[in-house]
Amino acid sequence: MKNKEIFAGAAAGALIFLALQGVNILPVVFILGLIGIVYYVNFGRRSCNSISFASAERNICSVSFDDIGGQEVAKNELREALEFMKNDEQIRLLGIRPLKGILLSGPPGTGKTLLAKAAARFTDSVFLSASGSEFVEMYVGVGAQRVRSLFEQARKTAEYLKKSSAVIFIDEIEVLGGARGQNNGHQEHDQTLNELLVQMDGISSDDRIKILVIGATNRIDMLDPALLRPGRFDRLVKVDLPDKKGRMHILELHVRNKPLASDVNVEALAKDTFGFSGAQLESVANEAAILAMRDGSDKIDSNHFRSAVEKVMMGEKLDRLPSKEEKRRIAVHESGHALVGELRLPGSVASVNVASRSNALGYVRQTQENDMYLYTCDYLKSRISAALAGIIAEELIFGNRSTGGSGDFKHASDIAKQIVYSGMSELGIISSEDIPGDQLHSAITSILRDVESSTRDFLSNYRRELKRISELLLDKETISGEELRLILISECA
Ligand code: ADP
Repeated sequence: MKNKEIFAGAAAGALIFLALQGVNILPVVFILGLIGIVYYVNFGRRSCNSISFASAERNICSVSFDDIGGQEVAKNELREALEFMKNDEQIRLLGIRPLKGILLSGPPGTGKTLLAKAAARFTDSVFLSASGSEFVEMYVGVGAQRVRSLFEQARKTAEYLKKSSAVIFIDEIEVLGGARGQNNGHQEHDQTLNELLVQMDGISSDDRIKILVIGATNRIDMLDPALLRPGRFDRLVKVDLPDKKGRMHILELHVRNKPLASDVNVEALAKDTFGFSGAQLESVANEAAILAMRDGSDKIDSNHFRSAVEKVMMGEKLDRLPSKEEKRRIAVHESGHALVGELRLPGSVASVNVASRSNALGYVRQTQENDMYLYTCDYLKSRISAALAGIIAEELIFGNRSTGGSGDFKHASDIAKQIVYSGMSELGIISSEDIPGDQLHSAITSILRDVESSTRDFLSNYRRELKRISELLLDKETISGEELRLILISECA
C-alpha cells in the first residue's frame, strides 16, 4: 500500500513539473484516467467482497425450519440431506463423497432463501449469500475472481467465528450457471462458471471448513448440465407454491405477532389466496396491519385482510376516474364475469370490484374450493365462459362491445390452447410442436365460438340478476363472494 502511495505521489509531482515546463500533459492524464477506471472496475470493487470481520456475526442465521410455513416436502428432503452432512465422522469412515451442492428450484418468493438460511442454522454453519448477477461482468476474469473470493471469505468467516462449516447461497444461479457458450460475451461468463465448478470440485471431506453451496433458480432448464452432474449440485429440491394447508401455516406464522379481531378466519383467508407465494402471503399480513393502522384501529379485522389480498394481487388503488357511463359499463362487464363464474363454478368468486387497480378498471377475483392439479374439459370451458361473459354482458345490456374485453380474450384463448394441447379438442391427440398454425387457430376459434354462443344463451336468462348486481356494484364498489351468493340465492328463489 505504501509503495503505491509513494508511486502515486511521485507521478503527480512529475506531471506538475512537466506542466510547469510547458509540456502538454493532457494525453498522459487521459491515459492514466482510463487505466484508473479499468483498475477500479477490475479490482477496486472486489473490495466489497473483502472480509470484514467487524460484521461477521451477521453471517449467523436465526431462521430455523420452524419459521418456514408449508414446504414440508422440501424441508424434509433438505433436512435429510443435511443430517447426512452432520454425520461427519461416519462419512469419513465409509469414504462417502461429501455433499457439495443442493439446488432449490421454484418460483420467486416461495422461501428458497429462508430454506438456505435454515439449512445454515441446522448445520451450525456460517451463511454467505450472493446473487448470480453479482458475478456478471464485462471484463474477463472478474467474475471468476469474485467466485474465488466468495469461497475464501466463507472459509475465513467460518474460521473467525469458530465454526466448522459454511453455507454459500447463490440466488438466481441460472445467471451465472447458464449453459456455456450461449452467452453474449461468453468468454467471461464461461470462466466464471468454470471457476464455480472448480471450487465445488475442490471441496473434500478432509477440509477443515466444510462448504455447502446452495443454489436457487426458477429456470432449471437454463442451467449448464455440468452443474447438475453428480458431485456438484447433488440434490435437487423442488420448492413449489404452497397448497392450502401450506398457505394457512405461512399466514399463521406471519400473523402470530399481530393483534387479530375475532372475525378473522385464517383458514378462509388461505382458501382465498390460491396461487399466492409465501412472500405474497407475508405481504398480505403486513398490508392488513398497515390498513388497520390507517383506520386507527388497534385490531386487524377481516375487511383489512380482504383489502390487503386485493392490493397484493392487483396493486394499489388508482385515482383513475372513468366517466359515469364508462363506470356503468365496467360494472355490467364485471357482473357478467361474476355471474357466469359463480353459476358455472359455484363458490369460485372471491370478490367483484369496480375500483381501478394496475391495468384493470374493474376485476373479479376467482379462487378454488380446493387446490386442483388436473382440469377436465368442462371445467376449462367454464373458465372460458366466465372470461367471455364480461363482453357478452356489455352486448346484452348496451347492444355493443367495448375494448374492455381484449385481456379476457387473451385469457380465454390461452385456456382454449390448453384444451387443444391436452388432446381434448376436435383435433384429438396432437403433438404441440408439429401442429400447423392454421389448424391450431381453427381449433381454438371453434372452441371459443361454441363457448361464446352458449354463454350468450345462458346469460340472456339472467338479465335481471345482471342488472341487480351491477347496480349494487356501482353503489358499493366491491361485492364479496358471500354477498354475491346471497344475492343469487334471493334472486333465483
Ligand atoms: P425466494 O428466495 O424463494 O424468492 P424468500 O425466501 O426470499 O423467497 O422469501 C421472501 C419472504 O417471503 C420471506 O422473507 C418470508 O417473509 C416470506 N416467505 C416466503 N416463503 C415463506 C414460507 N414458506 N414461510 C414463511 N414465510 C415465507
